[in-house]
Amino acid sequence: MDDSMTWMAAAACRGSDPAMFQDTDAAPQDGDSGHAAALRVCAACPVRARCLDWALSTRQPQGIWGGRTTADRLALLRAAQPPASRRPAARAAGPRHAA
Ligand code: SF4
Repeated sequence: MDDSMTWMAAAACRGSDPAMFQDTDAAPQDGDSGHAAALRVCAACPVRARCLDWALSTRQPQGIWGGRTTADRLALLRAAQPPASRRPAARAAGPRHAA
């Protein structure tokens, strides 16, 4: 664990079953609906904001992080993008194509 991940030592989910934090259809169901149990753990986690920042910055592709599902994080990332009209224009050709 590098210094940027020391927050994980305070994670409320330490020791929890990792499968509980998977947000796929294959996640085990324990009578709880959806991901409610994992989201309750996150809600009480002292490093929730750091966890969410990390998951967003590293583009975690799957799972519940920072109290957010994969779909939630994708929505946050999309909302944080500037409108297409303000994005830099894509380069037509990379350096390998320069004559
Ligand atoms: S916010 Fe949730 S997933 Fe992140 S460290 Fe805390 S309990 Fe674990």
